Amino acid sequence: MAPSQFENELTIHGHEQAGTLDEFHRAYEAAVEDVRSGFGETHPLRIDGELVETAETFAVTNPGDTDQVLGEFAAGDETHVDAAVAAASDAFQEWKGTHWDERAAIFREAADVVRDRKLEITALMAYENGKNRTEAIAEVDEAIDFLRYYAAEVERNEGYTADLREPTPGQRCVSDLRPYGVFGVVAPFNFPFAILVGMTTGALITGNTAVVKPASSTPLVAHAFFDALEEAGLPDGVANLVTGGGRAVGQPMIEHEDVAGFAFTGSREVGLRIRRTFDELDKRGPVIAELGGKNPVIVSDSADLSKAVSGVKFGAFSFSGQKCSATSRVYVHEDVAEEFTERLVAETNDLAVGKPEDEETVVSPLIDDGAIERYDDICETAAADGTVLTGGSRVDRDDLPTGRYVEPTVVADVPHDHALATDEHFLPFVTVHPVSSLEEGIAKSNDSDYALCAGLFSEDEAEIDAWFDRIESGMCYVNRERSATTGALVDAQPFGGWKYSGTTGKFAGGPWYLQQFMRQQSRTVVGDAGRP
Ligand code: NAP
Ligand code: MG
Repeated sequence: MAPSQFENELTIHGHEQAGTLDEFHRAYEAAVEDVRSGFGETHPLRIDGELVETAETFAVTNPGDTDQVLGEFAAGDETHVDAAVAAASDAFQEWKGTHWDERAAIFREAADVVRDRKLEITALMAYENGKNRTEAIAEVDEAIDFLRYYAAEVERNEGYTADLREPTPGQRCVSDLRPYGVFGVVAPFNFPFAILVGMTTGALITGNTAVVKPASSTPLVAHAFFDALEEAGLPDGVANLVTGGGRAVGQPMIEHEDVAGFAFTGSREVGLRIRRTFDELDKRGPVIAELGGKNPVIVSDSADLSKAVSGVKFGAFSFSGQKCSATSRVYVHEDVAEEFTERLVAETNDLAVGKPEDEETVVSPLIDDGAIERYDDICETAAADGTVLTGGSRVDRDDLPTGRYVEPTVVADVPHDHALATDEHFLPFVTVHPVSSLEEGIAKSNDSDYALCAGLFSEDEAEIDAWFDRIESGMCYVNRERSATTGALVDAQPFGGWKYSGTTGKFAGGPWYLQQFMRQQSRTVVGDAGRP
C-alpha cells in the first residue's frame, strides 16, 4: 500500500468530521493536567534494556515557568557512552539478521503506541520545550508519519535487495544494501520528538543499532519514545538512550571507534564538527546532518498581500522562530513594501505571546537563558543599526509566570549583508528589505551560506517559474498563507537543505533517506549452488 496515511491529515480531518475540535481542546487540557503528576521523578539512562543511574543528574525546567522542575535526568559521561556503544555493538549481530519485514512491523507497532499516547506526548512538549498545542500535536503526528513512512519504504524496496539477474550464463548477481553497525543519533531541542524519532527510526529500521542523545533541555519526550519502542518489542540493546551534555556525551559518541555512522540535527557548528572529527579519525561511515537555515521570502508586486503578511507572520513567529525553517528575511518589492510592512507590523502586534498550554498562544517562551540573552543582544543591535518597527523587548505581564517571554520583532533599515540578516538567530526576529525586482530578490535570497527553506508570494506564473528555476533552497514554497517557510509533511514534502543547511542533499521523510544508513554489497554466485 502506498504510504499516504498522513497522521496530520487524519488528526485534522478526524476532528472536523466528528465536529470535535472542541473535544480535542478539552482532551488536551485534561492531558496537560494529567502529565503533571509525573513531574519531579528521576530518569536514568537506558542501556541494553536496563535502567542505569548516574552519580550526577541535571534538572529540566519549564521555559514558560522556570520555577517548575519537570524532572531530574541522569547526566551521562564517557563511561556511559562506552557501555551504550558496547551494548549496541553486541545487539547489532542479531538485529542486522532480523528480516526486514519483522523490523518494519516493530516500527509500525511503535507508531500505534505513540498514537495511543498522542495527547500525553503533546502535553509533555508544552512543558518541556514550550510548544503550543496545535504545533505540538502536529509534531507528534509527524513522528507517527516517520515511523509508518519508513516502514512502508523498507517494504516497498523489499529490504533493499535488487536482483541483477544473470549477466552471463551461470553467473547470478544480487545487490544488497547493508547496515553499517552502530549509529550515533543526536537531536535538537526544537523538534525533540519528531526529529529524534525520525533519525532513530532511519538508523534502526535499516538494521543498524543506535546510541541516542536528546538535547539537554528535552530528554522527557525522548523517554516517551523509548517507552514506545520497548512496548513495540524492540530487542534490548538495539536502541540505547544516554542523556547528558553535548560535550560530556555527544562528543565521546562522535569520537568512539565503534560508532560507524552519525545522524545529527542541530546547529551548523556542531554538525560540521562531527564531520571534521570523522575525517580526522579517518572514519569512513556517513555523517547525515541537517543543519541551520536563514530562510528568505520574496514578496513580489504581484503578490496577494493578505497571503504574504499571514505567511511571513506565522513563518517567522510561530514557536518564537525557533525552527530551522523559520522565515527570517523578507525581500519585498518596493512598490508594495510600505503597505506590506505596515500590515505585517499590525498583525504581529495582534499575535498572542503566552503560556504554551493556552489555546490562543502563537509566540512561545524561549528555550533557555542563552536564547534570551541572544534576543536582547540582537534587538539592541537592531535599534542601533536599523529600525525596530515592533517588538524588541522581553514580555513581563502579571498574568504570566516567570518565564522567557519575548515580543515578536520586525526590523527594517538594515543592509542585506548585515549580520542581523545573515546569521541564524533562532528567535522571533525578522528583517524586511525592499528590492526593485524579482531578480534582485532572488540574488539576495541566494546570497547566503544557508539554503534550507525559501518562500515566494506572487500571482504571476512566469515569476513563479523563474523563481523555482533559480532559487537555491532545499524546500521551496509559493503562496503559503499558513506559513511562508515552515511545516513540511512527511512523504509529500521531504525535508532537508543545500549548502551549509545539510551535509548529504538527501531529505528526511523522502524516498532517498533510508539508503543513507546502508552501504552496498554486490553478490555473485557462479553455478547452481543454492539455486531455487
Ligand atoms: P545544537 O546546539 O547544535 O544542539 C543539537 C544537539 O547537539 C543537542 O543534543 C546538543 O546537546 C548536541 N551537542 C552540542 N554540542 C555537542 C558536541 N560537542 N558534540 C556532540 N553533540 C553536541 O542545536 P539546538 O540549539 O538544539 O537546535 C537549534 C539548531 O538546530 C539550529 O541551528 C537549527 O537550525 C537546527 N535545526 C535544523 C533542522 C533541520 O532539519 N535542518 C531541524 C531542527 C533544528 P546539548 O543540548 O546537551 O547541548
Ligand atoms: Mg544549542
